[in-house]
Amino acid sequence: MTNLQYGIPHQNTESFLSGGGEMGNIIREKDWSKTPLGDPKNWPSSLRTMVPVMLDNPFGMYIAWGNRYTQIYNDAFRPILGSTKHPGALGISSAVTFEEIWDTIGPMFEQVMKGNSFHKKNFMLPLNRNGFMEECYFDFSYSPVRKEDGKPGGVLVTVIETTNKNRTKDELKSSKMHKQAEKALKESEERFRTMADNISQLAWMTDKTGWIFWYNKRWFEYTGTTLEETEGWGWRKVHHPDYVDAVEKKFRNMIEKGKIWEDTFPLRASDGSYRWFLSRAIPVKNEKGDIIRWFGTNTDITEIIKFEQELKTSETRFRMLADSMPQIVWAADINGKLTYINKAFYNYTGLSYSDNIKEKWIDIIHPEDREESIQEWNECISSGREFNIEHRFRSHDGLYRWQLSRAVPLKDANGNIEIWVATSTDIQNIKELDQQKDHFISIASHELKTPITSIKGYIQILLSTYIESEDEFLKKSLTAVDKQIVKLTNLISDLLDLSKLKLGNLHLVKESFNMNELIEEVVEEIKLINKDYQIDVIFQTDAKIFADKERLAQVIINFLTNAIKYSPQNKIIQVKSFVKNNHITVVVKDQGIGINKKSQERIFERFYRVEGKNEATYPGFGIGLFISSEIIHRHNGKIGVKSTPGKGSEFYFSLPID
Ligand code: ADP
Repeated sequence: MTNLQYGIPHQNTESFLSGGGEMGNIIREKDWSKTPLGDPKNWPSSLRTMVPVMLDNPFGMYIAWGNRYTQIYNDAFRPILGSTKHPGALGISSAVTFEEIWDTIGPMFEQVMKGNSFHKKNFMLPLNRNGFMEECYFDFSYSPVRKEDGKPGGVLVTVIETTNKNRTKDELKSSKMHKQAEKALKESEERFRTMADNISQLAWMTDKTGWIFWYNKRWFEYTGTTLEETEGWGWRKVHHPDYVDAVEKKFRNMIEKGKIWEDTFPLRASDGSYRWFLSRAIPVKNEKGDIIRWFGTNTDITEIIKFEQELKTSETRFRMLADSMPQIVWAADINGKLTYINKAFYNYTGLSYSDNIKEKWIDIIHPEDREESIQEWNECISSGREFNIEHRFRSHDGLYRWQLSRAVPLKDANGNIEIWVATSTDIQNIKELDQQKDHFISIASHELKTPITSIKGYIQILLSTYIESEDEFLKKSLTAVDKQIVKLTNLISDLLDLSKLKLGNLHLVKESFNMNELIEEVVEEIKLINKDYQIDVIFQTDAKIFADKERLAQVIINFLTNAIKYSPQNKIIQVKSFVKNNHITVVVKDQGIGINKKSQERIFERFYRVEGKNEATYPGFGIGLFISSEIIHRHNGKIGVKSTPGKGSEFYFSLPID
């Protein structure tokens, strides 16, 4: 702006309208006669005074004159009118120029025309001055310009626009926040990078569109690629062609939906081989909740997959094996609940897979065996002891067959039971053979008993006949035969007892008698045929007892003959009896070969004999102690043994006295 350009007064211009910058020029050139103000020559003097003051003012000033608020403004005011309102605003009504805010300022102008003034600071007015609505802020004052008569003739507006100041503040604030968010993002990215470069997994980062812009070191090591090759969607080239499209589809879906993503796929290693990976990605959001990044990892799960496959194969193999077995194979969880049962079970029972046998298996057990089976099973489950039971299962034809069920607990490395594995074996045929054998024993022992008894009688007669004879050989032979006959008789009566027990025919014939007297009788008898043994008897208390005398004699004889049989070296035997807590206990103690701990628990079982060389050295059937224990239990007594191998044994029984 030079004086040359703007300083030359217009030919039509009144002298009061000189100067005033660009607006001065425009005002001078304006044909005011077409405006409500008319020719400047006729303007009221107060207006004529105010206009040059306004034009020369460096602050934005504006006058809205008269009832129609005809506008005049200075250079500094011009920017407020933007690119669309100027220069059209000059000489027209404020109500037209500021149509969009007239609701706000119109009433204020009216107030000014009544003599009031307004001052506003940082006042927001939404102006459409550049082709769009914008929030504009102003510090302004409205005051009246008075005419000669003192009445307000127009509104004088002094204004400073503060929009930029506000904007800068907002911009500063938002750019600060932006910077902070960027910093936080950078930091979290940095953390992820540092962490991800030190892990064994493959890791990567994408922008919000899914474009991968970073991979960790492991990725490059594993794939043998560079960032240029695999950035963006370049990762496709290390994926298996059979899977890559599905992977990408899922991946794009994740980006679109913004949900955490997980997938498994094979990835090609630098040597061309493929390994399986489990991939996961999580979104990172900004403060507004928009996703700005995805952090992802790929974990090598080849070994797990292999293991799972092997497990599956071995499980299939196990099932095939178990299903091809003629035995029933089953498994149960730690609570004893059936988890598996093989084909043999269905074949045997005729049940179908749809039958809920996991709940109903108990129904196939013979009603007489059910309670014991459940009780034993529950005990094994809670104690962890092996399950071993003979019971009958109903087969598909409705008949029951004997089964031997055995279950063992399988334990983990810490010794905790994981599962019970079991078999049930059909032992019906064995059982039947057993019964036949029992039957045979019963008949044989009966048939043998009569001739043996008569042989024994004849031997007794011969012995008493030749007791005085000079023929030593004859006497010795007769004594030896007698001894063997006694053994044979005992053996046969044991066998007889056994079959009686089997058939439930062993009946007790109880009477009242003195236990110590019985012991004495038995000991004397034994001594007669075992003259080289010393048998000491110690009675602490005398006690009468109501029991089967013959049977108890049999038990004591069994204890004593065993003590003699299994004590070939130290031939001192002690028999003791005492009363305690209303029970009489009889003990037979030897200094013989003794019994190991494991066998001690089993010698009272039928046919049990201690294994080893003694088995051949000491003849026997392993039934004497079984019968003894049956007799004692039928008297509600207790039987047992204490023994140290090589030192000797102490067999005892105790019975309640009335
Ligand atoms: P048997 O003596 O006829 O074999 P038993 O039932 O009387 O049958 O005994 C069972 C097993 O217990 C014997 O085979 C033997 O191994 C062991 N036994 C019994 N008594 C003794 C003992 N006093 N000393 C050592 N072992 C014994």
